[in-house]
Amino acid sequence: MKPYAEVIGDPIAHSKSPLIHGFWLDTLGIEAEYRKMHVTPEGLADYVESRRGDPAWRGCNVTIPHKQAMLDLVEDRGDVRASIGAVNTVVRGEDGALIGTNTDAGGFYAPIAGLDLEGLHAVVIGAGGAARAILFALSRVGIARVTILNRNVLKAAGLLSRFGLKGDAVPLGAPLPPADLLVNASALGMTGQPPLDIDLSPLPEHALVYDAVYAPLETPLLVQARARALDTVDGLEMLIGQAALAFELFFGAEPPRARDDELRAVLTR
Ligand code: NAP
Repeated sequence: MKPYAEVIGDPIAHSKSPLIHGFWLDTLGIEAEYRKMHVTPEGLADYVESRRGDPAWRGCNVTIPHKQAMLDLVEDRGDVRASIGAVNTVVRGEDGALIGTNTDAGGFYAPIAGLDLEGLHAVVIGAGGAARAILFALSRVGIARVTILNRNVLKAAGLLSRFGLKGDAVPLGAPLPPADLLVNASALGMTGQPPLDIDLSPLPEHALVYDAVYAPLETPLLVQARARALDTVDGLEMLIGQAALAFELFFGAEPPRARDDELRAVLTR
């Protein structure tokens, strides 16, 4: 049987992961598959047990609503529970054990890895799973201060202390500080969700605006930032970045990132 990996979630039909991994497998000519599998919360433990005994299974990506529940079902050798607190990838270790990890933080950081973020001020909108991965990454690169804007301010304050970050937690709608980096890690602006209503005018001219939302790709936030001639990073960059790290873990090969333009065309048509 062909080796395979897959993405699991509930719902799962919308996932772009099979397109990304499928593109890389085809491009590299690797004889393997990447599938999607609908797994409900009640079915999660049985799913893990069935894959544990399947030698063709290389691992899975984990999406809503299983990112935290998965922590209880696999080994946590990288101490993900105490850091990001959510698993987005499960791989089989050399000893056969199923190991949970998180590639969202690395995926977020990859497009901005060339920047020197030390001593800068970042604003993060949101305090959910994506925000946790992003705050974890920011806490590792010497960011001096983070302002979190979130509907639930207490939850945001808890994340500052979890990641040992200096800064403040304020309600959505509070005016922006003159920060160097603005990241939207909330669901706002996503198709089917309320818009993100924000005034970017306090941001300095050198500020970078990064939206983790990738559906739609051209979010109103990015349109507004470009209208001010600010640099931007869109959500597909993070999505492709987290997938790239998982692909190497599943298939032991580096994905062909030189062909990102073609991949982006596949993902947006
Ligand atoms: P999540 O854990 O459910 O968190 C959602 C966040 O959005 C929370 O901070 C929540 O505020 C806020 N929010 C949701 N609805 C809201 C509303 N009506 N008004 C105000 N705030 C609201 O979701 P997630 O997994 O972090 O995902 C967040 C976004 O990031 C999604 O658009 C997702 O597609 C995107 N994402 C992208 C990538 C990528 O690779 N590009 C990876 C992961 C996620 P409260 O805390 O107050 O509830």
